[in-house]
Amino acid sequence: MSSNDLVTEGKRQLRVCNACRYCEGYCAVWRAVERHREFSDKDLAYFANLCHDCRDCYFACPFTAPHEFAINPPKLFSGLRVESYRKYAWPNGWTRLLGRRRGFWRVAILAMLFMVVSSIVTNGVDRIFRHHVGPGAFYKVISEPALEIGFGVLGVWFVGGWLFGAIRFWRDIKPSNLGPVTRKDLIKATSDALKLRYLGREGLEEERAVNRRWLHHLVAYGFILDFISTALGAFYSHVLHVQAPYPIDNPVVILGVLGGIGIIVGTAGLLYGKSKTERAAADENSEESGSAFSVSLLTIGVTGMLVLLLRNTAAMGVVLAIHLGTVASLFFTAPYSKFVHFVYRYLALLRYAQEERTVGSATKREH
Ligand code: SF4
Ligand code: SF4
Repeated sequence: MSSNDLVTEGKRQLRVCNACRYCEGYCAVWRAVERHREFSDKDLAYFANLCHDCRDCYFACPFTAPHEFAINPPKLFSGLRVESYRKYAWPNGWTRLLGRRRGFWRVAILAMLFMVVSSIVTNGVDRIFRHHVGPGAFYKVISEPALEIGFGVLGVWFVGGWLFGAIRFWRDIKPSNLGPVTRKDLIKATSDALKLRYLGREGLEEERAVNRRWLHHLVAYGFILDFISTALGAFYSHVLHVQAPYPIDNPVVILGVLGGIGIIVGTAGLLYGKSKTERAAADENSEESGSAFSVSLLTIGVTGMLVLLLRNTAAMGVVLAIHLGTVASLFFTAPYSKFVHFVYRYLALLRYAQEERTVGSATKREH
């Protein structure tokens, strides 16, 4: 479905939902929807990023196909979410190219080849296949300055791309009549995002919702632990002048392993869950984007563990190049992949917090 068709279809379905309102207690989306009489494409982008695809409304709805209304909010919102990743990214055409599994693998293979070739060019042909042990062993395969410059540039690209999309998305969804964002709004949105509050609602698919919540927690906190491990590694290297690889009981390794386990278990569980869900409620583009992201994180987790297991063998150089290639690909594709969902969902929760504080409290007073 084209972007315009999705918007037209979204307006049609939400008019039916607003007349029905059976789902109003299900999640934040329905409280936000019922505050509208008309829907713009920007409102639809906001609702879509507020939806976490639990599918409770779909299973409760008496108007799904084959009923003539053919209501299907999870599929609609999934399609609109992918459209929002495309619309707010720059250059936006890259989302179709890089937000898919094929895009991730193409970039990853190029990055791996680059790592191997640059290692051979700078260190000689046999260095990558040799057995290296002790402090600085990793840098005998790929030099420390090359790694720092490469990932520094990718980090700026990644954060810059997210910021660019976030500013454009917020400009479109920010409410003009609710005043500035307050500290209370920020605290509520941050707390809802960190606790994955709406993902844990007890609903028709309670078991699946709870599992998804824990799997998402494992992925998110696994990623944070790995980020802390990397930052701590930089501190050891530059401030304490102790170079990687570190012993198994070092906090850098412990945090990295815990983070890696979280990512592997979480992404594998999410991929398995996806394979078992109701296909009729799924949007094809969204499924592809979601599984591309899960597969990329799973690959990073597995190759990271392989580096740890094989670091005292001659295979370390090749495995390290593969691992760094997958990480570089994740960084490069981050502004165009499902990864950007973290940013848009947070901003949607922020707008929702504003609405709840102002419109929500006014509604409560009226009652
Ligand atoms: S999804 Fe179905 S049951 Fe829920 S509000 Fe819309 S029309 Fe009503
Ligand atoms: S799929 Fe779940 S989160 Fe999305 S609108 Fe329906 S009930 Fe809300």
